[in-house]
Amino acid sequence: PSSNVVCERGNLLHHIMIVPRAVQLTPRRWLNLQEYQSKKLMSDNGVKVQRFFVADSANEALEAAKRLNAKEIVLKAQILAGGRGKGVFSSGLKGGVHLTKDPQVVGQLAKQMIGYNLATKQTPKEGVKVNKVMVAEALDISRETYLAILMDRSCNGPVLVGSPQGGVDIEEVAASNPELIFKEEIDIIEGIKDSQAQRMAENLGFLGPLKNQAADQIKKLYNLFLKIDATQVEVNPFGETPGGQVVCFDAKINFDDNAEFRQKDIFAMDDKSENEPIENEAAKYDLKYIGLDGNIACFVNGAGLAMATCDIIFLNGGKPANFLDLGGGVKEAQVYQAFKLLTADPKVEAILVNIFGGIVNCAIIANGITKACRELELKVPLVVRLEGELQSISTQETENSHGTVIAFQEHVTDRNLSKCAV
Ligand code: GDP
Ligand code: MN
Repeated sequence: PSSNVVCERGNLLHHIMIVPRAVQLTPRRWLNLQEYQSKKLMSDNGVKVQRFFVADSANEALEAAKRLNAKEIVLKAQILAGGRGKGVFSSGLKGGVHLTKDPQVVGQLAKQMIGYNLATKQTPKEGVKVNKVMVAEALDISRETYLAILMDRSCNGPVLVGSPQGGVDIEEVAASNPELIFKEEIDIIEGIKDSQAQRMAENLGFLGPLKNQAADQIKKLYNLFLKIDATQVEVNPFGETPGGQVVCFDAKINFDDNAEFRQKDIFAMDDKSENEPIENEAAKYDLKYIGLDGNIACFVNGAGLAMATCDIIFLNGGKPANFLDLGGGVKEAQVYQAFKLLTADPKVEAILVNIFGGIVNCAIIANGITKACRELELKVPLVVRLEGELQSISTQETENSHGTVIAFQEHVTDRNLSKCAV
């Protein structure tokens, strides 16, 4: 039997949807690189991409366009979301991807891109601010296919996913023409086989000499995927030119955060410009901050407790302003920093601390809180619940906090919470 459809097709859909480019919609957890950064990695590893420069001003874009000395130029807004081609800028400009033969036009278009928000199907409504543009040599495209390599849990390893119908939303193809989605499970020990790369190239519709070229690109992409500890490499379109070249016209790579220790160079490229500043500040101290739109700050340890705490707040008629997860091996200084972040946020009108002392003990938290209360002149009510290891010491500590803590432990009642809900 053909090994094309080893996994259920539903899994493909599932996969593509749980590894979205729309990282702005959900709190960031994975390293994300901009297209130009991904393409640099690709070209360094023998994968065919267009010549390009990156610019962060209109003037620089103009200069880059001249320097490219190309017959035609493609100008692409760099944001961490897909669907840019059909996006709209807050400047009014339509389209995050433009083709032109005139470098002056590149300058004019870049002016309407840089500094403005680009909204696409994958971004929040207000869009994402564009800080950089890619100025690349445009190539004619005679055919657009789709190619991705991802870690698939149901296959216990990497899987190649491809479709001869590329350039468009792959979810739509998977829904309307599932027979046009092809898969190749790869044995991670044996690596990708020539026959697999060849079969995928054929399924993608590459003919004649293009078939070998596409198979070669597929193998190189797979080897890159492994080498850089990616969880997903997506090329849409994976196209061919009338001149007979197979080219990766777009690139999106996701990385395994657990591999940070051995991928230092890649993680150093992390583009945090699309994060909320407070998220970046929190990350500096190894705290996980997730912004929400209410007014009660949640200070917790562990995502489960965080969610339960948000639920409690909702059930009592309040709205969480965020949740800030201290994580496991937290130190007193981090607790202090966490408070500093929360109190600097103007939308926070009360703080609820809900900590279970397991890996972290309550005394560390209590010390951090009292230090913060003393030094930061806390202006909002604070409700603390510490339960678990070294709870008794923490009780004493918080009692010494000069009355800033309005409720503690068993005194945390619905009434206290609704008082915080203002
Ligand atoms: P996305 O919309 O964010 O996925 O951005 P892409 O990089 O995929 O670009 C969108 C579309 O623009 C592609 O599907 C292509 O059809 C087109 N495009 C991108 N680069 C080129 C190019 O060099 N030449 C031509 N002719 N079209 C391009
Ligand atoms: Mn694309």
